[in-house]
Amino acid sequence: MLAVSLALPARGPVNLQNIRYYSYPEYTRVVLDLSADIKIAEKTLKGSSSGRLFFDLKNCRFAADYPFEKKNEIKIQAGNLQRIRIGKWNAQTIRVVFDFDKIGKYNRFYLTSPFRIVFDIYSQAEFVSHAQQAREQNLPVVQGSPSIARQLGLGVHRIVIDPGHGGKDPGTINRRLDLQEKNITLDIGKRLNAILNEHAEFEIILTRCRDEYVPLEERAAIANSNQGDIFVSIHTNSAPRQTARGVESYYLNITADPRAMEVAAQENAMSSKSMADMRTILNQILQNSKISESRILCQSIQRGMVANLKQKYDAVDDLGVKKAPFYVLLGAQMPSALIEVSFLSNLNEAKRLASPSYRQAVAAGLYLGIINFIQSLGK
Ligand SMILES: [Zn+2]
Repeated sequence: MLAVSLALPARGPVNLQNIRYYSYPEYTRVVLDLSADIKIAEKTLKGSSSGRLFFDLKNCRFAADYPFEKKNEIKIQAGNLQRIRIGKWNAQTIRVVFDFDKIGKYNRFYLTSPFRIVFDIYSQAEFVSHAQQAREQNLPVVQGSPSIARQLGLGVHRIVIDPGHGGKDPGTINRRLDLQEKNITLDIGKRLNAILNEHAEFEIILTRCRDEYVPLEERAAIANSNQGDIFVSIHTNSAPRQTARGVESYYLNITADPRAMEVAAQENAMSSKSMADMRTILNQILQNSKISESRILCQSIQRGMVANLKQKYDAVDDLGVKKAPFYVLLGAQMPSALIEVSFLSNLNEAKRLASPSYRQAVAAGLYLGIINFIQSLGK
């Protein structure tokens, strides 16, 4: 059993506003929405292999609009999460209990603006991607015609494409040309999906395939639950300096680069200042992230993008591979990259992004990078 106790904050009571969960057979992500941040003092009890995880939210009460049906017991029985029990432990404390079939590896971290506590709970001791499973069992994972992945015997099979933003979150907007990032990323994602689907050995998972809002914390959950082998998040860039242009690729890590922090702050929909809090989150979670593989994936995609665009377009700047703390990549258990394909804030690049032929060239560049990455794994 694992217990987490939350220390008293220095101000008034914090409201618990909601509990959300994404539960699958081997993996569950639970998100608590709170009105303010709480410092957590965590202790792990002996015998943590049982299926129960509980913790106390001290100096915390239910928000007035907290969904009533969730106040006592939520029967889930989806994936490996059986139920959530939640109630007043005493006047100042809410106790939350998760009952799982089995708890293996377990992570938790915080997101801010608004404050959220995220729990990633696996039923196995370690996360095993589809590719890893195939390698360990020495099984061919695909049928069909000879393919790159099969020739190399790698079993890289499931590719998760994440078109940035969507629904109520438009991302970057270019008012002059009436362009929204969410529409461009979706179109590029669909084009990349179409190209990758020409290879029978790949299974493509899109985190969204229409104009809908998907919370940042749900996107890595989709990738993990599907045991994705690669996760690629597609975005368009924006900078106050309108001459800024080019292609850049990011992997999850701590950075001191103010420009990288600015990009991450934009994508995380929060201020650069509150991003400073992420250092603690990252120190905790980076141990479990595939940093070097993600850097290689970024390098490969960056090269593919730049080379392919330069064939048809002039003034394509290679801004390189960078690191920054992106929420959307937090907790992803496979090599992951966030690609800023071009600047929507740059008039010339925005005009290009508006054209289907440029978006196709971007998708082809992403595709080349992904294929090169898969090939590089075999070397
Ligand atoms: Zn974006």
